[in-house]
Amino acid sequence: MDDTTPLAIDPRGCGCTECLVGEYIPAQSATREHLRLVATGRMRNNTYSDGTVTLRPPMSSEPGSDLVYEIALLAESLSGVFTADELDDTPAEAIFENLRA
Ligand SMILES: [Zn+2]
Repeated sequence: MDDTTPLAIDPRGCGCTECLVGEYIPAQSATREHLRLVATGRMRNNTYSDGTVTLRPPMSSEPGSDLVYEIALLAESLSGVFTADELDDTPAEAIFENLRA
């Protein structure tokens, strides 16, 4: 994380002042690193209010176990489960495109 890391992910399509100046980032523009920072509690998730995106942190943090993140668009009843490696290897836009009902 550096000074350019947004403080929070906002709902998809958000055009608020904070998103325009880069203080927050709309969900569809979030990078996989942003998604991981949200999933691990280091960035705020501002999408709960309209149920756009839910990020579930890893189920297990035991060393050597596969870390699993769930990313869901609640309003559209879509979700997907990704390992940390998949989250690293998949562009954020592709993550949103690959969510399933
Ligand atoms: Zn915004």
